[in-house]
Amino acid sequence: MPSTTTQLPVIVVGAGPTGLGAAIELARCGIRSILIERNDRTSWHPKTRNFNTRTMEIARGWGREIYDELRGLDLPAQWKSPIRFASSLTGKETGTIEAHGFAGAGPERSPVGSVFSSQDMIEPVLLRQARRSGMVDVRFNHEMVEFVSGHEHGADGVTIVMKNKANAETSTLQGAALIAADGAMSGMRELLKMPMSGAAKIAHFINCYYKADIEKFASARPGVLLFVTNEKVAGVFQPLDARGRWLCQMMVPEDQWSTDIYTPDRCSQWIRDAVGVEDLAIDVVSIGKWQMNALVSESFVAGNVLLMGDAAHMFPPTGGLGMNTGVQGMHNAVWKLALYLRGKAGRSLLDTYTTERRPIARWVAEQSHHNAMQVQKIGLISRGLAPATLTAEDVLKETRRYGNQLGIELGGIYESHAVVPDGTNPPEVADPYTDYAPSGRPGHRAPHVWLRQGNDTFSTLDLLGPEFTVLAGASGQAWREIVHRVADEMGLQMGCFVVGEPVGLRDVEGQFLARYGLENDGAVLVRPDGYVAWRSRSAIPDARHQLQRALKQILA
Ligand SMILES: Cc1cc2nc3c(=O)[nH]c(=O)nc-3n(C[C@H](O)[C@H](O)[C@H](O)COP(=O)(O)OP(=O)(O)OC[C@H]3O[C@@H](n4cnc5c(N)ncnc54)[C@H](O)[C@@H]3O)c2cc1C
Repeated sequence: MPSTTTQLPVIVVGAGPTGLGAAIELARCGIRSILIERNDRTSWHPKTRNFNTRTMEIARGWGREIYDELRGLDLPAQWKSPIRFASSLTGKETGTIEAHGFAGAGPERSPVGSVFSSQDMIEPVLLRQARRSGMVDVRFNHEMVEFVSGHEHGADGVTIVMKNKANAETSTLQGAALIAADGAMSGMRELLKMPMSGAAKIAHFINCYYKADIEKFASARPGVLLFVTNEKVAGVFQPLDARGRWLCQMMVPEDQWSTDIYTPDRCSQWIRDAVGVEDLAIDVVSIGKWQMNALVSESFVAGNVLLMGDAAHMFPPTGGLGMNTGVQGMHNAVWKLALYLRGKAGRSLLDTYTTERRPIARWVAEQSHHNAMQVQKIGLISRGLAPATLTAEDVLKETRRYGNQLGIELGGIYESHAVVPDGTNPPEVADPYTDYAPSGRPGHRAPHVWLRQGNDTFSTLDLLGPEFTVLAGASGQAWREIVHRVADEMGLQMGCFVVGEPVGLRDVEGQFLARYGLENDGAVLVRPDGYVAWRSRSAIPDARHQLQRALKQILA
């Protein structure tokens, strides 16, 4: 357990969505942080676009203000699905995929809506929330230039050297721990010599952000991703606001992967060839380049250093899960770090961040890679270059998981000592990647159920975190006293709610017991990240002892 460093802030390197999210979540857990970012502001380039349903559930936990601000950025529904494939925006369509996951999970499964916007719009909202918390010292124009100590086993805190880029002065900074959210080219991952496995350099993209009246040509066939392949171009159009702000990903050979080659003029010509309108007016705003990889780090934790976001895993965009998996992994890790730093949990709880999240990251990497390969095949069909045996229908069937990932998003299952199995099996679904079935089984995301108190309607998810929470059935009033005593004995903060009238919160649709797999007097223990840790399906004689034992196992 940490000793002298518990009073120090956590150092977060990188103010991308993962680093900003980590600082906000640390603040929510009552931990101060110093967030350092080498650039002088958040991203000016749109990069990736969506905060999916699970990520928006996390954002809702940060407060109504940030949640509403993010929802305010969302695209109109017709631009969130389907995914379309055509020879050009005005040319022949090869096929479509309905993207139910991108569109959102719906009010039966989640209290939130997904958001499609762009990183340059999303990051300032996160930054405002970090600052509002009063717990985050944000330092733009500061770069971590050396990592001194803290990654070794048994280390007490971390020490780094940081440079203030405004005056080139360097200074030593100490922290209780370090969150490396320093992106795909993570210097921290290199320093730790953390191996990555998977496929590298799958494809190369020039990413052009521009303003043009593409809606005029695309409105008849709107969608979330408009793939285009013809003899001149291969890539995808991505609407950013449905009002003339667009991003194009242009797939280019590696030897042409340069913004010196892809100048504004060349990008404009690409866009005209892809729309199929030669005199289209285009105002290029910025051009970026990025490489498609499907790589996952062997471990996400080394001593007091936690790798998060693209530093820990990189995915092809053909899944829309890069930024989301980063934020969701961060959410899995931060409460563990907070309890560890407070001396309430042992080191091995921190290690469950790798155990629980790495299998999910690997699955996303493999599936997104598969999707990317299918998209290339559809491109060949669009150009009439595919063998006659390869039909668009067959390839689209193979690509059905693209944009349809609610299974992995809401139904991903954690297995580690931070979850206490209850001997039951997961619910059966036809495809665990695409299909989500709510379950209160330990290891699953606590299901959403609509509740009411007075005139307020809210979700079970609104009752959770940043501490442990017990949710009990309508005859489970005894759990209140049990939870109170266990929390006292273990020095933990814990919440307890009874769901069901007459004494508890009103279960609007009468779904609570079924979704959580409980009898009227049973209860679940939910972790601060909203995952069920332990379940007692009905009342048990030694409930206090059992709950305590479960918590001790989790916090080991
Ligand atoms: C041009 C571009 C286009 C992209 N397009 C897509 C897309 O279409 N679809 C998709 O899924 N993904 C895309 N991505 C990837 C997507 O942006 C990432 O998945 C997402 O940004 C990951 O967030 P992150 O916070 O982990 O890392 P990042 O957003 O990369 O943030 C890392 C931050 O760390 C900072 N940093 C790095 N080293 C240091 C240091 N030593 N000291 C201080 N600060 C440091 C960087 O400046 C950066 O701001 C794109 C990326 C780029 C670069």
